[in-house]
Amino acid sequence: MSLHKFLNPDLRQRDIATELEMRDQAVATVAASQQTTDCNFTSIERAIQAAIQEISTEHTQHLPSLEEIVITYSEDPLFISAINEPEMLSRTLEMIASNRMIAAGIVPSSFTETGACVKCGVVLLETKAEGLLYGCPWCHTS
Ligand SMILES: [Zn+2]
Repeated sequence: MSLHKFLNPDLRQRDIATELEMRDQAVATVAASQQTTDCNFTSIERAIQAAIQEISTEHTQHLPSLEEIVITYSEDPLFISAINEPEMLSRTLEMIASNRMIAAGIVPSSFTETGACVKCGVVLLETKAEGLLYGCPWCHTS
């Protein structure tokens, strides 16, 4: 015997209606959040792709994949602040590529100046440094 028989039919009807409404709202909320995430993800990807077009192939060759960039840097405050500034985003991507080149022992072509590192001795740099280096890109000694 169904328990529903003992319930006030009006109340039961309302409960079902409320439950359905709540379920619909939950479904709508989830759908909305997924849509927002997808939109943001796509716009971030688009911004990165546009920024990549602006940088040299020397740098693009050493960039991680688009997916890796999104995963690795999507919570980096500096990266997020650069997303809406194409010029800054391009510079940020160049910096990421340069850091990866340096880590792999490759000298970026823009490194035409020299500086002196306590640990490495004379090193190639992007901008000329007088005196001892305050932060060496090659060994990260400061
Ligand atoms: Zn060094």
